[in-house]
Amino acid sequence: MTRCFLASRRYNFFVEIFAFDINKCISKLEDKKTSKNKRRCSFCGRSEDEVGFLITGVNGCICDTCSEQAYEIVQEALHQHGNSSAGNLNLKELPKPKDIKEFLDQYVIGQDDAKRYLSVAVYNHYKRLLQPKDENDVEIEKSNIIMVGSTGTGKTLLARTIAKMLHVPFTIVDATVLTEAGYVGEDIESILTRLLQVADYNVEEAERGIVFIDEIDKIARKGDNPSITRDVSGEGVQQGLLKLLEGSVVNVPPQGGRKHPEQKLIPVNTKNILFICGGAFDGIERKIAQRLNANVVGYSAVKETVKIDRGNLMQYIAPQDLKSFGLIPEIIGRLPVLTYLNPLDRTALRNILTEPKNSIIKQYVKLFEMDDVTLEFEPEVFDYIVDKAIEYKLGARGLRSIVETIMNDTMFEIPSQNVHKFVVTLDYAKEQMNKANLSRLQMA
Ligand code: ADP
Repeated sequence: MTRCFLASRRYNFFVEIFAFDINKCISKLEDKKTSKNKRRCSFCGRSEDEVGFLITGVNGCICDTCSEQAYEIVQEALHQHGNSSAGNLNLKELPKPKDIKEFLDQYVIGQDDAKRYLSVAVYNHYKRLLQPKDENDVEIEKSNIIMVGSTGTGKTLLARTIAKMLHVPFTIVDATVLTEAGYVGEDIESILTRLLQVADYNVEEAERGIVFIDEIDKIARKGDNPSITRDVSGEGVQQGLLKLLEGSVVNVPPQGGRKHPEQKLIPVNTKNILFICGGAFDGIERKIAQRLNANVVGYSAVKETVKIDRGNLMQYIAPQDLKSFGLIPEIIGRLPVLTYLNPLDRTALRNILTEPKNSIIKQYVKLFEMDDVTLEFEPEVFDYIVDKAIEYKLGARGLRSIVETIMNDTMFEIPSQNVHKFVVTLDYAKEQMNKANLSRLQMA
C-alpha cells in the first residue's frame, strides 16, 4: 500500500518536474516579501518565505527541499530499474563462452587458453548471478581465476577487453600498493572501494562485479623461513585477501584511504564478486622445471610419454608451482581456475601491430585521417619495428614507443602542410630511429 502510494507520488513528481521551465525563474524570497499572493511550493505547500528559493514552472512551483527530494527519488528509481545491471539480462541473451572469446579475439592476439578460461569463467559468473534464489537448489559457487604470464603479454588487456562487454561493474587494482591493515599503504578493503565507485555506490551492483587484481605475484611470501620482521606487504596481505576471495561481508570505507572512526563504512558482501588475478611470477619457470624434472626421475617417469616443450614451460603451470613461488595454499585454493599466457614471439608482435580492432597502426592511420591525410606503411617497416622491439627487449609494450619515435616528426610537420598522403618507407623509419635518443626508448 505504502509502496503504491510512494510509486504514484514518484510518478507525479516526474510529470510535474518535467513540465517546469527551470530557465523561467529562480526567485529569491526577499524579492517578493511584499506581495499578498505569495507563491507556494506545489509539492509541500510552503510559501516562498518559508523556503530557500522557489523554481517556477508553467503550472506550479517547487522549492529547493522538494527538488532535492525529487532528485533522490529519481536516482533511486533508476537504480531499481537496474539501468546498468545484469538484472536485465536473461539466460537466453547471455553471451556464450564462444561469443566472449570471439569478442576477445578482435582485440587480443593469441593467448587462446587464457581466453577460453576467461570466457567460461565470465559466462558462469553471469549464470550464478541469474540463478534463482532457492534454498534447496544446488548453489553455484564462483571460481576465481589466476592468470600467469610474463609482463606485457596481454593480461591486463584481456581484463580490460572483458570489461568492455560486461554489464557488471568492473575494476582493476594493483596488489603492490596493498599492505596489512595499520601499515603504510592501502588497506585490502580499498579494492572494494574502487568497485563501489564504479558501481556509483550501488552496493547491490558492486556485489556482483568483477575485480582484476594485477601483480598478485608481488604479494608472494618473501622467503620460506619465518622472519623476525613482519611481512606486511606479502603474506599479511594474502591473509587479508583471503576473506575477500572466499566471500564475506567486508566493511568498506566509501572514499578509500585509511579507516578512521568518523568515516561511515559500507558493508559489502563479496560472495558473488568474481576475482581475476594476474601476475608475471618472474622465475616461476624454474619451479616448474624442478617439478617436471622431479617427476621424470620419480616413479611416474615410466608414464612420461609426452615430450616436454622446454621453450615454453609456462604451459605446464600447476597450483604447486604457485605455492613454491610463495602464495599461501589457502589463496591458491580460492583461485581454482589457473591459466597462463604465452610469451609473445615475432609473429605475435607483428600481428599486434596491425591486426587488433584498435591496433597501434590503425590508431595512427586514424590520427592522420582526422587531418585529411592518408597514412600508409611499407610492409617492411612493420618487420623493422618488430626487430627493434626484440632487439631492445621491449616486448609488445615497446611497439607503441617505437612507432611514436618514427612518426613524431611527421606528426609535428604534417598538420601545417598541405599534404594529403604520407607513406612511411623503410628508409624513413630507419632514419627516424637513428635520430632518436635510443636510451630513452630502452627505458620505456
Ligand atoms: P600485462 O598486463 O600482461 O603486463 P598488458 O596487457 O598491459 O600486459 O600489455 C601491454 C600492451 O601490450 C597492451 O596495451 C597491448 O597494446 C599490447 N599487448 C600485449 N599483449 C597483447 C596481445 N596478446 N594482443 C594484443 N596486444 C597485446
